[in-house]
Amino acid sequence: KRLVAFEHVSKMFSTGTLALSDIHFTIQEGEFVSFLGPSGCGKSTALRMVAGLAVPTTGLVTVNGKTPKQLVRESNDIAFVFQDANLLPWRTVLDNVVLPMELRGGSRKEHKETALHALEMVGLKDHMKAHPRQLSGGMKMRVSIARALAAKPKLLLMDEPFAALDEITRQSLQMELLDIWQKEKMTVLFVTHNVYEAVFLSSKIVVMSARPGRVSSNIDVDLPYP
Ligand code: ADP
Ligand code: ADP
Repeated sequence: KRLVAFEHVSKMFSTGTLALSDIHFTIQEGEFVSFLGPSGCGKSTALRMVAGLAVPTTGLVTVNGKTPKQLVRESNDIAFVFQDANLLPWRTVLDNVVLPMELRGGSRKEHKETALHALEMVGLKDHMKAHPRQLSGGMKMRVSIARALAAKPKLLLMDEPFAALDEITRQSLQMELLDIWQKEKMTVLFVTHNVYEAVFLSSKIVVMSARPGRVSSNIDVDLPYP
C-alpha cells in the first residue's frame, strides 16, 4: 500500500536557493527508504516536508493521501528523530521519553508503561533513572529513538541520526534499528550521506544528485532486502 507520495515537488527558498527540483516518487508501507546524497542536495528539506515542517513551492507531498500537516494535527502517525538527540538535560531518561505523551494528556501510569516498553526495545530500561549527561552519545540517540517509538508511529523519520557517532556505536545502532524496523513493521525514511549506511539499512534508496538545484530523486534503486 502506498504511504508517501512526492508529486513533482520543487522547493525554492526565499533566499533564492533551489533545494529540490521536480522530484517524483512513492514509498510503500513497510519500506525502509534512505534518502542518499551529498550535503546540501535537499535530503533534509524532503524529509521535513513529510513531517509538515517544510512545504513545497510547487507540487504535492502526501502521506496516506493527506497533507502532512493535517496528519500531524490528527494523529501520532509521524515521529521525527534528529541528528542531535535533543534530550532535556534536567529530565531523567524515562521522563524524556514520557514528555511527548505528557503534552498530549492522559494517565501518567500508562505513559510510564509505554515509555518503559520503548526503552526496553532500545536496551535502556536499566537506565531509566539516569540523566542525559550520564549517557554516551549512542545511549542518548537510543533514548531519542525510544521517545519516537513510544508514539507507535506508522512512519519514522530520521535525519542523519547516527552521523555524530563513532563507527562501532553506529554499527550497533544500525543493527538495532533494522531489528526494530522488522519487529514493529513501520515505515522508515532515513536521511544519510553515507553510501554504506544506505546500502546496509535500506529496502529502497532514493538517490539525490549533487548538482545544486538539480536533484534527480527519481533514480531509486530497489535492493534485494526483505
Ligand atoms: P541536505 O539535507 O541534503 O544537506 P538541505 O535540505 O538541508 O540539504 O538543504 C538543501 C539546500 O537548501 C541547501 O543549499 C541549504 O543551504 C538550503 N536551505 C535549507 N533550508 C533552508 C532555509 N530554511 N532557507 C534557505 N535555504 C535553505
Ligand atoms: P536540518 O538540521 O533539518 O538539516 P538545517 O541545519 O539545514 O536543518 O537548518 C536548520 C534551520 O536553519 C532550517 O530550519 C532553516 O530554517 C535554516 N537554514 C538552513 N539553511 C539555511 C540557509 N542556507 N539559509 C537560511 N536559512 C537556512
